[in-house]
Amino acid sequence: MAASLLSQVRAQETAIATLRRALSRGKVHHAYLFDGPAGVGKELAAFGLAQALVCERRGLTAPDDDACGECSACKRVPLREGERRPTHPDVALLERGLYEPGTIGRRTQESQDISIDQVRTIVLARAAFAPHEGRAKVFIVRRAEELSISAANALLKTLEEPGQGTHFILMSSQADSLLSTIRSRTQRLRFGLLPDADVVAILTARGIDPQQANAVARLAGGSVETGATLADPELAGARDAFVQKALRAIAAPDMGPALELAEELKKVKGDLGTLLTALGDALAADARTFAMANDPKAEASAARYRLTLVAARQLDGNASAQLAMESMFARMRAV
Ligand SMILES: [Zn+2]
Repeated sequence: MAASLLSQVRAQETAIATLRRALSRGKVHHAYLFDGPAGVGKELAAFGLAQALVCERRGLTAPDDDACGECSACKRVPLREGERRPTHPDVALLERGLYEPGTIGRRTQESQDISIDQVRTIVLARAAFAPHEGRAKVFIVRRAEELSISAANALLKTLEEPGQGTHFILMSSQADSLLSTIRSRTQRLRFGLLPDADVVAILTARGIDPQQANAVARLAGGSVETGATLADPELAGARDAFVQKALRAIAAPDMGPALELAEELKKVKGDLGTLLTALGDALAADARTFAMANDPKAEASAARYRLTLVAARQLDGNASAQLAMESMFARMRAV
């Protein structure tokens, strides 16, 4: 039996209960804003709601608060292997660069934003018509914060009064950067970070080795997307290499290697937090091992571990990456 998409969303109890209640009462809002970080289930929930709305059996031979997951309509909603868009004619996906320029009346690829051309062709041209298969019409917008101002403005009227059976699901990890006129026309549902156990379960189900899934889940901060990136062998290799270099720099006779590493790290800005967490983990593991052996070096490893947390806070506060790293290494060496 194929499970409905909604039933596969993990941990987002409040959001999913709200959607199920709306479905069973026949009061599904015409425009939702799924607000939350990447990789926590917004996408699965959006396709799940779309599936429930177009399902042929919901409320008939299947419960009224979820898709059956098995009828012909249900099967055409999830993205198939190698497909970028759902095959169901009443479920449309919007995303920057998703369509060939020619099909949305453009000469060039959308590189900056979701253009007004995409909104005109994919939404406005269809919004006035009844659903092909009679149940509902659903527009899902990935990274809605990428709507251009003109695209967002073009969407406003339809978003406010989309017509019978038409629904919008906007997804965003930066909901506050959406135009307030868009936000005020939507019902906001929050999606929080996942518990580590759920990240492990999802990664394992995707074929990642359970031991590795456990290791990366600790660093993933509750996001499956981050976890999957971390499990990438190339990135894992880069992380291990950083930890080794950092440990050597701490133990080196002079600041040379530390300054060199700090200089190198200027460039990785985005992933620096993850690298620091990995270094912190290695130092904390050392501290535990030393402590168990009653080795006095435990104290130094623990102090160095705490310095990684200080550095992480400085980076969150937008300190210069190079200076924060230099000062961290200097203080670690002085321990
Ligand atoms: Zn169905």
